[in-house]
Amino acid sequence: MSHVFHRHLKQRYPTAVKGDGPYLVDAEGRRYLDASGGAAVSCLGHSDGEVIEAIRDQVGRLAYAHTSFFTNEPMETLADFLVERAPEGLSSVYFVSGGSEAVEAALKLARQYFIEIGQPQRRHLIARRQSYHGNTLGALATGGNAWRRQQFEPLLVEVSHVSPCYAYRGQAAGETPEAYGERLAHELENEILRLGPESVMAFVAEPVVGATLGAVPAVPGYFRRVREVCDRHGVLLILDEVMCGMGRTGSLFAAEQEGVSADLITIAKGLGGGYQPIGATLVSERIRRAIAEGSGFFQHGHTYIGHATACAAALAVQRAIEERDLLSRVRWLGEGLRERLLDRFGDHPHVGDIRGRGLFQGLELVADRADKTPFAPSRKLNAAIKRAAMEAGLMCYPMGGTIDGQRGDHILLAPPFILEESHLDELVDKLDTALARVMGDH
Ligand code: PMP
Repeated sequence: MSHVFHRHLKQRYPTAVKGDGPYLVDAEGRRYLDASGGAAVSCLGHSDGEVIEAIRDQVGRLAYAHTSFFTNEPMETLADFLVERAPEGLSSVYFVSGGSEAVEAALKLARQYFIEIGQPQRRHLIARRQSYHGNTLGALATGGNAWRRQQFEPLLVEVSHVSPCYAYRGQAAGETPEAYGERLAHELENEILRLGPESVMAFVAEPVVGATLGAVPAVPGYFRRVREVCDRHGVLLILDEVMCGMGRTGSLFAAEQEGVSADLITIAKGLGGGYQPIGATLVSERIRRAIAEGSGFFQHGHTYIGHATACAAALAVQRAIEERDLLSRVRWLGEGLRERLLDRFGDHPHVGDIRGRGLFQGLELVADRADKTPFAPSRKLNAAIKRAAMEAGLMCYPMGGTIDGQRGDHILLAPPFILEESHLDELVDKLDTALARVMGDH
């Protein structure tokens, strides 16, 4: 019996023993094309020589130095690198070990900011339904994914949830994308007014929704309107780019394509590309200054913040992406993936929607395309697809189930940026095989 407390205690997992570019290899020698980058993590694939060398080099000199005693070179250089390329106004970076920690740091920075500037009554958060912001308690309370929250409710942090920007199901017949975005911005504004603007701290959203909806970008103009609403009421905007950031959608930050900046942006997954665990919260100058000129101390230390080896790995990953011009590769590979998905599944009776941006693409599965009826959760479609895909030698990221009226099964694709075009064909073929095995031929 395994002594590991696995995620699913009734499931057996193959043992991953080796990474080979975009493939993972198990102990039996089976190869899996990593079409989801794990969970949108492995942007450079699994065996990048330059990153491995950078890690070796850093460990050889300094693996780790606690940040209450020292700063370190990779952390300083990585912060410079990110701030130089970040959306306007973000001027410093708080390094943590993963996405949930980055979100927790953002929430507490927002809270501390308002305490420092003498508005301690601002502590209410607004986020969106069908969003995911992490599994720690604050991040879990922020996310609006009913399935992940349900068994832990009531949660410790109270958060209001408004509608996600989810055109496939949310945009009314005859409504333009602009009108839809405006309607949602009104909904947010009404919620701020209902709570009392002087009590609202921040609005949190993923620019492109990942884990709960499968790569859903907002309609054009939505985030600009959201930014205006937040500004009108003194509410901070926190963009969670843990999944969609770091080049995944074809720009380093997903927010760039929305034409907005934020007061806080969280990043993780693609930051270190899986070579080391690392996340970060980018902080606006306004927030940094309020804390620097106030108490001067963010009461939020973790043991591994600014881990030298993790920062060196992330720096190597980000430099590789830039030096190899991988963002333009993400854009054209993304187009190629999209074309192939539309070609293969565009008429599939159970594929209701194909959406996404760059190498962040999603398929929504439905029992009936005409009225978008979802599959019954009892079918456990996501688990079946994951199994069938693994049997076909493919890692994809299916999720779903209907709960509290939040509906739908989705498959998220987020492959490494280093694919060749032949891998796109392999990906679509294997996905087709897996879907046929679970839902029959179409
Ligand atoms: N925010 C978003 C948008 C995410 O997708 C995730 C992870 N799927 C998290 C936060 C949490 O990140 P982690 O699993 O690294 O804690």
